[in-house]
Amino acid sequence: MTAETGQSSGSKPSDDAWAKLVPLDTKFSDIEIRSNDFVICSEIKPSSLERLEWCRITKNLGHASATIHNKSSDAILVDEAVIPKDGVVDIRCGSEIVPGPHGQGYLQYRFTIMPAPESRTQLLKISIDPENAKCSICLNIWHDVVTAAPCLHNFCNGCFSEWMRRSEEKHRHVLCPQCRTAVQYVGKNHFLKNIQEDILNVDATLRRPAEDIAVLDSSASIQSNLIIGSKRKRRSNILSPPLEERERLRLQCPQCVANIGSYRCEHHGAHLQCHLCAGMMPFRANLQVPLHCMGCDRPFCGAYWSSVNVTQGVSSPVCSRETFKPIAERTVTRIPFVTHEMNRHEQDITQRCIVQMGKTVPDVVAEWFTRFNNREIDRSRMPLNHAEMITTSTHVCNDCYDKLVGFLLYWFRITLPSSRLPDDVAAREDCWYGYMCRTQHHNEEHARKRNHVCRPTRGNHPL
Ligand SMILES: [Zn+2]
Ligand SMILES: [Zn+2]
Ligand SMILES: [Zn+2]
Ligand SMILES: [Zn+2]
Ligand SMILES: [Zn+2]
Ligand SMILES: [Zn+2]
Repeated sequence: MTAETGQSSGSKPSDDAWAKLVPLDTKFSDIEIRSNDFVICSEIKPSSLERLEWCRITKNLGHASATIHNKSSDAILVDEAVIPKDGVVDIRCGSEIVPGPHGQGYLQYRFTIMPAPESRTQLLKISIDPENAKCSICLNIWHDVVTAAPCLHNFCNGCFSEWMRRSEEKHRHVLCPQCRTAVQYVGKNHFLKNIQEDILNVDATLRRPAEDIAVLDSSASIQSNLIIGSKRKRRSNILSPPLEERERLRLQCPQCVANIGSYRCEHHGAHLQCHLCAGMMPFRANLQVPLHCMGCDRPFCGAYWSSVNVTQGVSSPVCSRETFKPIAERTVTRIPFVTHEMNRHEQDITQRCIVQMGKTVPDVVAEWFTRFNNREIDRSRMPLNHAEMITTSTHVCNDCYDKLVGFLLYWFRITLPSSRLPDDVAAREDCWYGYMCRTQHHNEEHARKRNHVCRPTRGNHPL
């Protein structure tokens, strides 16, 4: 057994260190841990000049954790738990260690495991933007990541379980919190779990406090690699018919089951599956209400079912009228997320301009819908299908409505005289690539410093 002193002076910063203790007070330097069994000898208080031997750290098999042995004469704190003199506890990358019995007055260290040497040489290096490994519910790096199908969005097990529980209280189906696709399966994702762990090992500051993790784990209900449907469905399976029978029933729309509004589906009659709720509706010609959104050509069932006064399905979900209605009946409360190619600096500017004019977003959008209806706007860049056919009495889905409002706000901004813009905004130069610029999506500074509500003047883009 080797006993070494940490921070032995003169030692070159070596590649051999497998871990280090990083003091949270940056005035102090890192303590590199080089051997598999290492006695730490360092300051324990910011004020103390002498270095004391206060703990031993032993590497565990498998590189992911270590054991800390309290060698000081008093208790120490590890991840906020009190470890008595001579006590031993496991630590992992990110663990917080305080070399005294109470946090106050002692230095604080974070235990950080370095990437294993073999992984530097033998494994492919890939770089991942941690932003792409975040749960869109809690906005943290995933914890115990699960994947929803068919859209393949990823969430923390705890977050998604809670979402599922709440959805089931209100609806008969679970929509993906990120894209609102009806979720048919959800399961643990082991591959992404490794990525999640790697990211947290590289950047321990992305870890959340132990108590947050405990809360998250307590609501996690997804145990298998792939489960079908929701808890409610699984519970009712006990009493329900065998699988094939159930599958057949699941695909039956309310009018397959009963005559509603003097219509009943024919046996094996053609159906459309709603893009939003994944429920079925009969495919009927010559109806007064549309079955498809004109902006995206996807089927939506909200208008159809409300036209026959169906608000709830028996074995298949049904959307409310609110999800698919004419533009004129919709309201906008704030600038949609998709506006200005999702560049939030430009969204802020638009918001500021509107406020400066003494108006609100609904006012401005209403004005521009009037111009739109009067065909005063060039629709060649309108991001919807059948752009020339759309009027404010056209039914569109939520996504298409947001896109259309974003399109009108582009026109609001581009036609605004520069005297109406805040000074700092008017002073910005146009980005050559205008709204087509891809840099604005990953370079915060560029997105802020250049105007992107303008037409491209470079590249092979139509002006
Ligand atoms: Zn989450
Ligand atoms: Zn999704
Ligand atoms: Zn039917
Ligand atoms: Zn649409
Ligand atoms: Zn629907
Ligand atoms: Zn740009």
